Amino acid sequence: MSSDYGKYVWQKHAYGAHRQFYVANNEISDEQYQEFKKVLATFNNERQHHQHFQIYKGDKFPCFQKVNVGFESDSTYGRFLKANQSIHFNQEVFKSAPFASAVEPTSHQFCLTCHKVPSQTEHDTFIQCSQCINVFFCCIQCKIDNQSHKFECDTIFRHITDLDIKLSIQMVLEAMTLFATVNQLQSYIERIVDDKTLSQSIPVGCFDKVARLDCIMRLCPSPLDQKICEKASLAYKFVMEIPVIKMNFKLKSQTRFLKHLLMHFLGVIDANAIVAHIKVSKSTQLKRLLIYEVFSFFNHSCCPNVFYYLQQNNNVMIGRANHTINQNEQLFINYEFFYDNNTEERRQYIEENWKFICHCNRCEQDVTEESRQRAEEMSLDELKTQLNTTDMTTWRRQHCAYILRYMQLMNRPQLNIR
Ligand SMILES: [Zn+2]
Ligand SMILES: [Zn+2]
Ligand SMILES: [Zn+2]
Repeated sequence: MSSDYGKYVWQKHAYGAHRQFYVANNEISDEQYQEFKKVLATFNNERQHHQHFQIYKGDKFPCFQKVNVGFESDSTYGRFLKANQSIHFNQEVFKSAPFASAVEPTSHQFCLTCHKVPSQTEHDTFIQCSQCINVFFCCIQCKIDNQSHKFECDTIFRHITDLDIKLSIQMVLEAMTLFATVNQLQSYIERIVDDKTLSQSIPVGCFDKVARLDCIMRLCPSPLDQKICEKASLAYKFVMEIPVIKMNFKLKSQTRFLKHLLMHFLGVIDANAIVAHIKVSKSTQLKRLLIYEVFSFFNHSCCPNVFYYLQQNNNVMIGRANHTINQNEQLFINYEFFYDNNTEERRQYIEENWKFICHCNRCEQDVTEESRQRAEEMSLDELKTQLNTTDMTTWRRQHCAYILRYMQLMNRPQLNIR
């Protein structure tokens, strides 16, 4: 750095008064200001390459930073996401850090905030929590960003093995970071829940954590069943072992609110949470459960136009277009990962897990006699050629895979194609 602009800003500022800082600012020449902007840009650029997820001020939905996507609703799909402008193949559609996450108990090192695992040389640079064992942060920013750990630091919480329960409590803790008192949290949530159109309402944004909580409250939870009720009871038992909770939820109305909140979160988790793993060593993977608020509004299709994955070595979820998406087309992801199983099995699996019958193009078209007919008539070479056609959309590729599956069912021996 050749410029000495620093001596104008920092030296004068070192003695304190705001007025002095103001004066110092005025003393920077245009040239020096340009220099300053360059440094700032380098700094910001560096930050971007770090895994931290940045919230861009001014955007209602920063998770759709790179595309023009909006919410809509109709009687068929309920609330859904739609491309307001066409999206090209492989374009980033979605990017978000989780609203909350839970990792199975472990003594392995990973960052509690971003789930980064230290490389061999980084073990010493991770910051350990000064109050409890086995909690680490990869850097000072992740330590600052984590507002919820202070509530559960050195408590029973880290030892909870049921990840649904752990995540529901984590979500309560995240919600608590946003309000000064439990009463404020309670009246905020009750105001949202009072809205009778909640289950059809469109989220207002995800620009800050309060807005993100608002999105979570608008999600449709799984219908209450025995399993969720039991988990809620256990979650309540665990959460009351956390001193700060016990201290703040004292009145009957408060504990009742807490129970309801846990119940809602468990329902939302059941319907929307993502199971993934953290690779902490060559042979060890930790199970984790993550909840993303806006991501949870994507509808399912067995021939989706958006595929999603977790960024390597952290917990940022990315969605990309897996073929060109036209203007006004709805965005779909695939809730399950068995692309080439048969429609009946797939539908059954989806119905068991998400309580709806899939009517996507693939499901509706594939169970036809025509497909069966085609499968019988097509030669393997024809199928191979189709699968290798470069302009083939994912949907057609899946269709072919599907036909292959039929052939498999019909015991055709020549099916081992890659
Ligand atoms: Zn981190
Ligand atoms: Zn701690
Ligand atoms: Zn389907």
